[in-house]
Amino acid sequence: MLSFLRPREFVASIYDIDLPHLYELGFRYLLTDLDNTLVEWNSPVATPKLLTWLDAARNIGFQVCIISNNDEKRVMDFARLIAMPAFYKAGKPRKKAYREAIQLLSATPLETIMVGDQVFTDVLGGNRMGLYTVLVKPIHPQEFIGTKVMRWLERFVLRQMPEPKIIDDEKKK
Ligand SMILES: [Mg+2]
Repeated sequence: MLSFLRPREFVASIYDIDLPHLYELGFRYLLTDLDNTLVEWNSPVATPKLLTWLDAARNIGFQVCIISNNDEKRVMDFARLIAMPAFYKAGKPRKKAYREAIQLLSATPLETIMVGDQVFTDVLGGNRMGLYTVLVKPIHPQEFIGTKVMRWLERFVLRQMPEPKIIDDEKKK
């Protein structure tokens, strides 16, 4: 059971994911959570840093798609802002939205990465689908109340993981 909860990588933020390396390994598709992964929970603002990262991912050759459990307005407003396909009320960790996203991108699970900040939704769902899962630290402590309960359980799982990698120079200052 625990192996399904374990991400393949645990990094400090999306900016610490070695996308060129993952591309070299054959990954072409990037599914990503929205809240506390790309931006703060319910933040409607795409930061310049995020936009630069998304451009870089696309330039490397990745196709990117959002899978979020948040509601239609929040998710689709943000998706329009960054011109990216998205699935809302995804019901992670259920497989349905992952399957739909993979189909939309004409991807295969073996070529697909799932990035998110929660073990019991993002990582568990991704692992169940056979994706390469990357856990990031949540951007900001403010979040949905139900999420806070799961964080307590997450800490138990993460105790068995190495500390997240930080390769972002800005954070070292
Ligand atoms: Mg999240």
